[in-house]
Amino acid sequence: MQTITNAIGGARVESRSGRTAPVFNPATGEQSGVVGLSSASEVEEAIATAKAAFPAWRDTPPLKRARMMFRFKELLSENADKIARAISAEHGKTHDDALGEVTRGIEVVEFACGIPHLLKGEFARNVGPAIDSYSDRQPLGVVAGITPFNFPAMVPLWMYPVSVACGNTFILKPSERDPSAAMVVYDLFTEAGFPAGVLNVVHGDKEAVDTLLTHPDVKAISFVGSTPIAEYVYSTGTAHGKRVQALGGAKNHMIIMPDADMNQAADALMGAGYGSAGERCMAVSVAVPVGEKTADELVEALAPRVRALKIGPSTDTDAEMGPVITKAHQQKVLGYIDQGEKEGAELVVDGRGFNLQGYEGGYFVGGTLFDRVTKDMTIYKEEIFGPVLSVVRAKDYDEAVDLINTHEYGNGTAIFTRDGDAARAFADRIEVGMVGV
Ligand code: NAD
Repeated sequence: MQTITNAIGGARVESRSGRTAPVFNPATGEQSGVVGLSSASEVEEAIATAKAAFPAWRDTPPLKRARMMFRFKELLSENADKIARAISAEHGKTHDDALGEVTRGIEVVEFACGIPHLLKGEFARNVGPAIDSYSDRQPLGVVAGITPFNFPAMVPLWMYPVSVACGNTFILKPSERDPSAAMVVYDLFTEAGFPAGVLNVVHGDKEAVDTLLTHPDVKAISFVGSTPIAEYVYSTGTAHGKRVQALGGAKNHMIIMPDADMNQAADALMGAGYGSAGERCMAVSVAVPVGEKTADELVEALAPRVRALKIGPSTDTDAEMGPVITKAHQQKVLGYIDQGEKEGAELVVDGRGFNLQGYEGGYFVGGTLFDRVTKDMTIYKEEIFGPVLSVVRAKDYDEAVDLINTHEYGNGTAIFTRDGDAARAFADRIEVGMVGV
C-alpha cells in the first residue's frame, strides 16, 4: 500500500501528525493507499519554505519562468497517460475522461507560457497636470490553492501554473480523497526545473486548510469545492485579510425546445449528465424540455440510452462511466434516489442495486433518470453529484429560463434549438456563468 507524502522545499516528507486518511480504489472498494493529514505546524513549515523561496523567484525574469513552464507543458503531454492512470485509480473516472482532464489542465499551462506578455503593465501620460501614471503587475508572495476530488489534476493546474508564472510561490492542498495525481504532476513540475520551494504540496483536511486561511504570510487563496466549504473559506480567508476566490457547487440545466433534434439532445445529455458519473461541476443534472410533447419525446429518447449505459472500472476501455468517489458518497446518491421517489418524482430508470460482476465492492451507482421532477423536491434543489438526471417539464420558454435564473446553484447552462436567433437571445436572458447553445 502506498503512502502519499507532502512535498516541501523540493523534498518528499511524510507527515508527522499521526493522523492519516485511507485512499481507496473506488472500482473495487479496496484501500490502495494512505495519506497523512498534515498538522498546523507542518503547514506552517511549508508556508515558511514558500516565503523563503519567494524573493529569488519574484526576481527571476518572466522569460525564464516561462521557459520552465514550456518544459512543464512538454512533460505533461509526454506523461498524459501516466497522469490519467493516477487520476482513474483513485477517482474512478474512465481513462478517456481522465485524459480529457489532463488536456484541460495543459491548456492552462499553455496560457501561463505567455506570461512575459501577460504581465506587461500600462502607462498613461498627463493623467493630471505634470502627472503620468503607470501600472504593473506584481506577485503577492505566498499563495495557496485548496482543491476538490473531482478533477484531481486539472483544478490544481487551474491554479499554480499562472500563479507561479507571475512570480508567486505556492502551496497546494489537494483533496485527501484522491491525492496521488497531484503528486505525479508535482514530480513533473520539479523535473521541469522550477526551484525548490516554488511549489509545495501539503495533504490534509480542515486543520491544514484552517492554517492556510488564517496564516498572515499567505496572501491569497484559491478554492474549488462544495458551496458550504466555499462560503467558509471565503468568509474565513477574507476575515484574515486575504484575497480569496472560492468556486462552489452546481445544478446545471439544459433547455430542450420543441424544435430541437431530440436524438442530438439526448446524446448530449448522456455525456453531460452521466459522464464522470455526474461528478462534474459542469454536469447537466436537470433537463428542461419545453412543452409536454417535447418532454414525452425526450424521455422516450433518453430512457433506453440510460439503461444501456456501459458502466465499469477505468481499466475497461468500453466503459462510459465509472463508480462514484467513496462508499459514503455512493450512499448519499442512493439516498437522493430514495428521496426523489418518496417526494413523488417518476423514476423512469432506477440505478439502485446496480451490480458489476467481479467489482461487487465498488462504489457504483447505475444511471438514473427521473421525470416530472418539480421545483420543491430535494433532488431538484440540491446538488446530487452523481449519475442522476432530473427532467423538469416547463410549460413555456419563460418558465424554463426562470428555473435557471432562480436556482441557487446555477453554474452553466445550455439550450437545444434549431432557431439561431432564439439561441443567441438565450445568452442575454441567462444570469449564470457559462452558456452553451
Ligand atoms: P469539498 O468541499 O468537500 O472539498 C474541497 C476541498 O475542501 C478539499 O481539499 C477538502 O479537503 C477541503 N475541505 C473539506 N471540508 C472542509 C472543511 N470543513 N474545512 C476546510 N476545508 C475542507 O468538495 P469535493 O467534494 O471535494 O468536490 C466536489 C464539489 O466541488 C462539488 O460541489 C462540485 O460542484 C464542486 N466543484 C466546483 C467547480 C467549479 O468550478 N465551480 C469545479 C469542480 C468542483
